Amino acid sequence: MAIATINPATGETLKTFEPLNDAEIAAKLDLANQAFEQYRKTSFSQRSLWLQKAAEILDQEKTDFAKVMTLEMGKPYKAAISEVEKCAAVCRYYAENAADFLADVAVKTDASHSFVSYQPLGVILAVMPWNFPFWQVFRFAAPALMAGNVGLLKHASNVPQSALAIAEIIQRAGFPEGVFQTLLIGAAKVADIIADDRVKAATLTGSEPAGASLAATAGKHIKKTVLELGGSDPFIVLASADVETAVATATAARMLNNGQSCIAAKRFIVEEAIADQFEKLLLDKFQALKVGDPMQPDTDLGPLATPDILQDLDQQVQVAKNSGGKVLTGGYHISDRPGNFYPPTIITDIPLDAPIAQEEFFGPVALLFRVPDIDAAIKLANATPFGLGASAWTNNDQERDRLITEIEAGAVFINGLVKSDPRLPFGGIKRSGYGRELSIQGIQEFVNVKTVWVK
Ligand code: NAP
Repeated sequence: MAIATINPATGETLKTFEPLNDAEIAAKLDLANQAFEQYRKTSFSQRSLWLQKAAEILDQEKTDFAKVMTLEMGKPYKAAISEVEKCAAVCRYYAENAADFLADVAVKTDASHSFVSYQPLGVILAVMPWNFPFWQVFRFAAPALMAGNVGLLKHASNVPQSALAIAEIIQRAGFPEGVFQTLLIGAAKVADIIADDRVKAATLTGSEPAGASLAATAGKHIKKTVLELGGSDPFIVLASADVETAVATATAARMLNNGQSCIAAKRFIVEEAIADQFEKLLLDKFQALKVGDPMQPDTDLGPLATPDILQDLDQQVQVAKNSGGKVLTGGYHISDRPGNFYPPTIITDIPLDAPIAQEEFFGPVALLFRVPDIDAAIKLANATPFGLGASAWTNNDQERDRLITEIEAGAVFINGLVKSDPRLPFGGIKRSGYGRELSIQGIQEFVNVKTVWVK
């Protein structure tokens, strides 16, 4: 894949970039490694000042950064602005809390003094996707830099200007040269970089094949990884729920980021008693959404990020239809205009044992299933290789407790939209990956948990 900005709303190539050659990559690895030797000795308070400055830059220039994202991957401009604000918030969160999260922890033993000390690991490689071009990177960078690590970013090939803008923000914030660098490279170069002795660990947010490939190389070289991969999140609505609120949230949850979010609700599992009502209200909501130019403030749904994603999604819809699924709305490629547009789509009646029912649909397509009771709802929710998030709706305490305990996912949200929050850990189980980002757990992923024992 070429490293280029191609506007997904028009198909126009706006800018292309030459990938770094091997000598340039080696120079950046050297610089990162050298930067770590000094940077690891800086204080939390100094790092905190730099990170707060980064938050200030993000807030002050949010409209410029939002435009870059919308131009590169098509998310609605208003959502892009919120994304930049959230990046500023995560910077402030770690600027304020990292010193406490990584403070020594005294432990009473037979020593005169023993404690746990958290120390940085060194150069960490971050391989990131295009769907939240700023958020995914700051979610990694804020804790990593506060912990005293140094970052190397390999961003997705279709968001190079976002990648360069982020490195510039961090540099303008005052972080020393080499503490955070963008590598404009294709995916084929990642394995050699992980294998390099100067790189100590890696994190990847993206698809299962990319995660498996990165983890295999890292495993061979005994290096720690965190993987944030795909999801086919269930959205369960039981008969006791407030159906109207559930439908409004269901619509927002499926359409998040033009349907291209790992934690977007993808499978809607509704108890039979309220299924007709839910289906009708959802159909009304989907049909009322405005599809169009993502720069316009009243657009709800912009284009998919690339022609490949559009093609893959359309293919999945065809398979769903061929497996017995019934399309209630949408279900075709909008071909009377340039760009990668796909309409809000609802598919019902897919047989539960059809393989397509377990797949992740990365676009504005909702799969709707009817179940007789909570047992069937939980069974279906768990009938997927993924385990990222789950949203479940009920007003019954016993049902709530069962959903919390029995759903196989890294997060369960009751009567609410699954979303990431700097204060709460974020990550998956099963084939959605391992490790956690955000909160105290996130910053403790890439540190040496050192035991200190003094006689
Ligand atoms: P992708 O193809 O895996 O790309 C993600 C990143 O990995 C890009 O930088 C890509 O580089 C790189 N990459 C691809 N193949 C690689 C390989 N073999 N080795 C090393 N790096 C490789 O992912 P995508 O399809 O763009 O993104 C969608 C997927 O990401 C979905 O499954 C979604 O659910 C998941 N996702 C998960 C989370 C989460 O937090 N759990 C968040 C967002 C998205 P190139 O662009 O150069 O190919």
